Amino acid sequence: MPDPACGYTMGKFSTVMARPPAYIPQPPDANPTKEAFMATAATLKPGVEVRAKKLLINNEWVDSVSGKTFPTINPTTGEEICQVAEADAADVDKAVRAARAAFETGAWRKMSGSQRGRMMYKLADLLEKHADELARLEALDNGKPYFIASVADLPLTIACYRYYAGWADKTQGKTIPVNGPYFSYTKHEPVGVCGQIIPWNFPLLMQSWKLGPALAAGCTVVLKPAEQTPLTALRVGELILEAGFPPGVVNILPGYGPTAGGAITRHMDVDKVAFTGSTEVGHLIMKAAAESNLKRVTLELGGKSPNIIFADADMDKAIEGSHQALFFNQGQACCAGSRLFVEEKCYDEVVEKSVARAKKRTVGDPFEKSTEQGPQVDNDQFKKIMGYIESGKQEKAKLMTGGNRVGDKGYFIEPTVFSDVQDNMKIAQEEIFGPVMTILKFKDLNEVIERGNKSIYGLAAGVWTKDITKAHAIANSLRAGTVWVNCFDVFDAGAPFGGFKQSGIGRELGEYGLANYTEVKTVTIQL
Ligand code: NAP
Ligand code: MG
Repeated sequence: MPDPACGYTMGKFSTVMARPPAYIPQPPDANPTKEAFMATAATLKPGVEVRAKKLLINNEWVDSVSGKTFPTINPTTGEEICQVAEADAADVDKAVRAARAAFETGAWRKMSGSQRGRMMYKLADLLEKHADELARLEALDNGKPYFIASVADLPLTIACYRYYAGWADKTQGKTIPVNGPYFSYTKHEPVGVCGQIIPWNFPLLMQSWKLGPALAAGCTVVLKPAEQTPLTALRVGELILEAGFPPGVVNILPGYGPTAGGAITRHMDVDKVAFTGSTEVGHLIMKAAAESNLKRVTLELGGKSPNIIFADADMDKAIEGSHQALFFNQGQACCAGSRLFVEEKCYDEVVEKSVARAKKRTVGDPFEKSTEQGPQVDNDQFKKIMGYIESGKQEKAKLMTGGNRVGDKGYFIEPTVFSDVQDNMKIAQEEIFGPVMTILKFKDLNEVIERGNKSIYGLAAGVWTKDITKAHAIANSLRAGTVWVNCFDVFDAGAPFGGFKQSGIGRELGEYGLANYTEVKTVTIQL
């Protein structure tokens, strides 16, 4: 039976409210409203105790070598939640030694695949058991609505661990028909000690995309969560201990990018680094890998994804879908449909209705029932987005709604829509990573393909049309790792995700995601 939690996709929020995941008491209504869901939640305030605040090295919670700590901030108020141990190069070194020892002794890699899988299932079960607490912690540290964390981030995270748990005993090689009296076969062996550096926009989910395939393959890991959102990663560390993982298999080091992150990327005994974040830092990661030990590199970077509405689309679905494609997660999504191309024939209608929808979008406390949009993750992101809004105005895009801060504390921004955006404007080229929709007009299919591809990025794309020929033409011609047709942000642990061009290297999720964590060994035997 399919796991009900797996049925959740981020794209479904607006129109159909999918069923709540299994761990939440099921209301009699199988398709509840948001109010029904919230009514089942015990209390709406964070109501969560922050427990793990240290570094997890070799299955022990330790202070950093320097003794330093750093604050993690609640973006709703701008106030400190707590101090967290701050890892630097010396701690990375300790963690890499623990991960190396765990790899060499084979405590993990030589455990049978099914046994590894069982432990990963156990971790998934523990995440499910503590899902409500984790959703609250995620909303507190990141600012995303608690409701969204509950129905999107948690179910997808749990499903990802379960998906890869299933792979743990299914990675196998091939037999090769070689010339001569020889027998050749291939084996898939774990790549070794993996450094994993994750961002703040989907902290739990990105942790699962990294740990899932690495652990299934038999690798050991040193993971650095983003400095803005270390709390859920550390709580998962506690659950990893509870699940019984051997020492050194998973090490978690909160800290800053240039210091702790940099030390991971430069380390001579890290075999592979997997990174999700900005394209700018992606360049630094490759450089550090090249200058150190040629560690393997996979990158999941930024995007400026075209989302295309043709005049023959189901208009209400396309407009609501495109609204979510951009504004979901406060606009902080690498695959956000951030260049909304609209066919001339329906341009005025789409602009008018998109503006009306943005005006209706509720911004506020992530723990309020009515909230669709919480604060941006921190002051730096807030300032960066406000800078892009200013640039849009200066370059004479038409500001249709929004553009201002909301309230006077925390990092809230009004849902903002620009129309009459031109390809060469900064807001049409650079990743804004905020609640700012940019609408561009196009005439025909060939033109929109050409303009859609005019970007350094190639992460994702969306198209809304009832014409299957047009949908195929777009799907075949856009240089993007994922194309969504009449939907957006539909994720599944089995479906690979990653970028063409400067949106990244390699794919995460699915069988392809697993391949990044194995080395292929060819064995040839004379007969
Ligand atoms: P970022 O710097 O790329 O952060 C991503 C991760 O990389 C964090 O864990 C960060 O550490 C770490 N990092 C930073 N510098 C590093 C270095 N020199 N070596 C190794 N690791 C390093 O992203 P950001 O500054 O938070 O956000 C800036 C922009 O990046 C956003 O506006 C958005 O455009 C893009 N972004 C994309 C994604 C995505 O999902 N593709 C996610 C986040 C941001 P600390 O943050 O802990 O210092
Ligand atoms: Mg925080």
